[in-house]
Amino acid sequence: MRIAVLSDIHGNLTALEAVLEAIGDDAEQVWCLGDIIGYGPDPNACVERVREGGFITVVGNHDHACLGHLDLADFNPDARRACEWTSERLSRENRLFLEGLPDTLVQEERFTLVHGSPRAPVWEYVASPEVALENLAFFETPICLVGHTHVPLAFHLTVEDEDERSRCERRWLQDGQRLDLSKGRWILNPGGVGQPRDGDPRAAFLLLDTAAGTAEVRRVPYEVEAVQKRMRRAGLPQSLVTRLAFGW
Ligand code: ZN
Repeated sequence: MRIAVLSDIHGNLTALEAVLEAIGDDAEQVWCLGDIIGYGPDPNACVERVREGGFITVVGNHDHACLGHLDLADFNPDARRACEWTSERLSRENRLFLEGLPDTLVQEERFTLVHGSPRAPVWEYVASPEVALENLAFFETPICLVGHTHVPLAFHLTVEDEDERSRCERRWLQDGQRLDLSKGRWILNPGGVGQPRDGDPRAAFLLLDTAAGTAEVRRVPYEVEAVQKRMRRAGLPQSLVTRLAFGW
């Protein structure tokens, strides 16, 4: 089966639509690693697209925060303002949908899905090999899919023969790069759809091929200015508008 893995849509409908168009017939299922809302100008439209598409979805920290389940004091002032703006506009149906999302899912027996990390599904960032290794004991499948950092990353975890110690190699993933997942265990991050943070403003997603045992990162340009215009009109913080053009 071919599966498209998306994360961190963050209320950016233009980026989401560009990604779905790029996926086209290349995937039979879409999995979503949370943070559907927060930051961007189109929260309801993004949640509706996820609902209507029947995407397999886990909850993210911004989804939680916009539902009022997290103390917004933990957010920086711009993220907090965007969250309050989003929360005021979220429809009842979309709120109920987000309320029902699990924080961890296992799919196809091989994949664990979380927003942050298997150890702390909503909050922890897996950005370093050290944290990736610490998380090895918290999932049982060969592959764990995470989002949250908005950076396309792979952690390849292997066991050294002599002393049974685990080793972790970190790889930053480029557009079109394909990974062979057959050996060892992996923590994979598809990068962000609606607010990439690796210096490349293009939306990012991952294509899994379960038969071939591969994963491939794809980047998709979208009309950033159109989103920025809607954000300005909505009165969302200028720093959030600016960053989309630079991918940070
Ligand atoms: Zn996020």
